[in-house]
Amino acid sequence: MLNRDGVASKEQVLSRFPSNEVLVKAKAITECYEEIPCNPCATSCPFDAIHIGEDINTKPVVDFDLCTGCGICVYSCPGLAIVIAQIVNDKARFKLPYELRPLPIVGEIWDGVNRSGDVICKALIEKVTYTARVDRTALVQVSVPLEFIHEFITVRRVL
Ligand code: SF4
Ligand code: SF4
Repeated sequence: MLNRDGVASKEQVLSRFPSNEVLVKAKAITECYEEIPCNPCATSCPFDAIHIGEDINTKPVVDFDLCTGCGICVYSCPGLAIVIAQIVNDKARFKLPYELRPLPIVGEIWDGVNRSGDVICKALIEKVTYTARVDRTALVQVSVPLEFIHEFITVRRVL
C-alpha cells in the first residue's frame, strides 16, 4: 500500500490503465498517486491529453482518446512516473524512462521487475532512445509477457 510501504495497490495501478482494447494503441500511464504540486506532464503534452486543472495539486488524468503515445510526457516527468504501454500480439510493450548506466542494448534480455522490486519475468530490450537534448533520461522500449502488464514496472540488468 502506498502510504505504508510506498508501493501502489493493485486497485491504484488498475485505475491508471485503460482497457486492453484501448491499449492496442500506445497510451501514457501516469503512476502518480499522490496530490503534489507538479504539472510538467500536462504542460508538455502537445495534444492536451493530460489534465490537471487549475489546482496544481490535482492528480493527472490522461484522456486516452487524445493521447497518441508520443512519449514526450515521459521525459518531462521529474518523478519518472510515466510509462507508455501498448499491447502487441501476446506481449505488453512498454517505453520506460531509464536513468541508470550502463544502458541496455537492443536484443538483450533483462529482468522485468514489479513495483516491490521483485523480478517477475524476462524483458526483451527492443529499442533504446537517447538524445543529447534529454541528457540523462533514456527511453527504453521493452516487451514482456502480456500477463504481467499490470505488474511490470521497470527493467534490471541480469547480474
Ligand atoms: S504520450 Fe504524448 S500524447 Fe500521450 S499524454 Fe504523453 S505527451 Fe500527451
Ligand atoms: S509530471 Fe510526473 S510527478 Fe508531476 S504530476 Fe505529472 S505524472 Fe505526476
